[in-house]
Parts: sequence; C-alpha cells; structure tokens
Amino acid sequence: MQTNPTFSTPKFPVSTKSLHAELKRRVNEYLDQQGVIGTGNFKLFSKAIILISLFVITYVHLVFFTPPVFFAILECAFFGCLIAAIGFNVMHDGSHGSFSKYAWLNKLASSSISVLGASRFMWGMKHVTIHHTYTNIDGVDDDIEVGVLMRMAPTQKHYLVHRFQHVYFWVLYMLLYIFWIFFADYKKYFSKKIGSISFKSMTFMEHFEFWAVKLYHATVFVALPIYMLGWVSWLVGFLVATFVAGFVLSIVFQLAHTVDETEFPIAIQPENRMPDEFAAHQIQTTANFATKSKMISWLVGGLNFQIEHHLFPKISHVHYPAISKIVKEACADFKLKYIEYPTVGSAIKAHVNFLRSMSKPAVV
Ligand SMILES: [Zn+2]
Repeated sequence: MQTNPTFSTPKFPVSTKSLHAELKRRVNEYLDQQGVIGTGNFKLFSKAIILISLFVITYVHLVFFTPPVFFAILECAFFGCLIAAIGFNVMHDGSHGSFSKYAWLNKLASSSISVLGASRFMWGMKHVTIHHTYTNIDGVDDDIEVGVLMRMAPTQKHYLVHRFQHVYFWVLYMLLYIFWIFFADYKKYFSKKIGSISFKSMTFMEHFEFWAVKLYHATVFVALPIYMLGWVSWLVGFLVATFVAGFVLSIVFQLAHTVDETEFPIAIQPENRMPDEFAAHQIQTTANFATKSKMISWLVGGLNFQIEHHLFPKISHVHYPAISKIVKEACADFKLKYIEYPTVGSAIKAHVNFLRSMSKPAVV
C-alpha cells in the first residue's frame, strides 16, 4: 500500500537509543526462545473457521428459515456481533499481514472485509497506513475525525452540540457500520482522499473489487432478504444487526485511543516534527483494557492489547498477552506510562470521561 500525500505529514524524530529498536530486540529474543514465529497459529485459524461458519449459518437461517420475530431479533443481534468479531479477529490480523506467514492466507483473511460489505482498499489506507502511523494526530488520523457532531481531540473546534456528546455518542456509534458501508467508503473513493491525505490512483482490479463488493453487499444483504422476507422484516433485522455491529466496532476501537489518559501530540512547527520518537508516541496515545480476561481477548481479537498491537502490528494478537509483559517492563525502564484499564467497564468510563472533557470548550 502506498500513499501519495499532497500535504506534508509530520515526521517522527529518529533517536540514537531507539526505544522501538530495544523493544523489537526484547520481543524477538522472546519469540526465538519460545521457538515460535510472530504470525497466527492454529488457535487463530480455528477461531476464523468458527466465526465465518457461524456467520454463514446465521445468515442462511435468518433469510431462508426465519424463526419467530422475538428469536429473529435476537439472532440479528448475534449476527451483528459476528460481523464485529470477524472484523476484529480475521480481517484485522489479515490486513496487517499477521494472520499467517503465508501472504495468500493474509490476503484471504483481509478479504473477509469484503464479505462484510466494506472496501479492503480503503481500510488498508485508513487503518493500516494512516491510523497506525499518525495515531491521535489531529488532522491526519481519520479515526478521530468522527464528523461535526463529535469532538475527539483537544485541538478540534468546539461547537455547542458537543456539550451533550457524552450523552448521545451511543447513537452515533450504532450508526457507524451503515455509515461506513453506504457513505464513508464512497466518499473516500470519489474524493480519492482519507481525511486530508490523498492516495495513489487505484488499479483496474482495485476499482473492480470495490464495485464488486458493493454490488455483492446490496444483493446479499438488501435485495435478497427483501425478496425473501419483505421490506419491514428486512429493515428491522438489518437495523438490529448493523446497530449492534456498529456499536461494538466503534466502542472497541475508541477505547484504545480516546480515553482520559491518552495524549494527542502536536507537531512542532515549522519543522513539522513530532515531539517524541515513533514507539514513545504510540505508547502515549494508546491504552489497553481487560487484558486479564481470556474471554474478552478471544472475542475482540487482542484489540484489548492495543499498545502491543501498535508497537508490533505484524505480530498476531495470539502472542500479545506474553509480549505485554516485555512491553510493560520496557515502559518502566524508559519511564513511560503504560496506560491500561482493568475491565471493559472501567475503560468505557474512561472513554465517557474523555468525551465529557471534550464537551467543554478549550480554556484559552
Ligand atoms: Zn490495527
């Protein structure tokens, strides 16, 4: 994936005693000692097969063998959770090339985003390239550009409506998936931009894939269910599934960077240089949550270990619990704060606190 920025993106200072180099040295030493490679293992492959199978079975059951209304609604909510789980566990690792040591398997895993109706190309640009490099940098990181209704960084302009953002954010998060599939992908496609960064022209195959996925999604998730079940049943089911998927996807990704302890570093001008080296920047802008919970780690694909993920995106999430001990030790050695919340509840509270603090105008 290449970028062709039309505006100058900030640069990270290169340190002689690089924290990133030291972290890589310690983690590689651990992997060598264990005799393992950093990519996914059978645990991940079996999880991928379970999730994709459940996705197909639930879809077929809902559309062709529709249960009574109450159970159908519950099943649609479950289907929404599966959309999010495939995104976290299969697509995300695949897009980072950490799912497998084989490039074709990574491509296959990352293509699961197509099954969900979103563009693989746009995700690669937005998440893998931009978000992972310029984390929490206002004006560059598209993850904190939620739109005029949410203020997600202290440097963003304050509007009156933001006073209530910690109250209404739930509703906007529920709309994320619909917004992504039916609006955000197209906006990026036609503007050839992710936020303020322009991207290279797409190849014929990339254009073809984009439209083929959108056509497939409209056929399988809109036209066919309407034909089988009628407008009303489809609409109710579609909204339940997409609201659940949108909320789960939004909250898990937001808990990593927009909580009350994470920072929003600003480039020093006129050099346009960030104050800290890349690894220190990632540690300051990222938080972990519920790392002791095996169930949460399994469900969110290790996205509760975001510090490790941002430092080692090419290492699969199945290795993060072990690596987190090394990273924590290194943070203590380099006198950097390792931000973590013990439970999902405490992390959500920290996110709401952050939204509340952003709801007030900046004190000049
Ligand atoms: Zn990632």
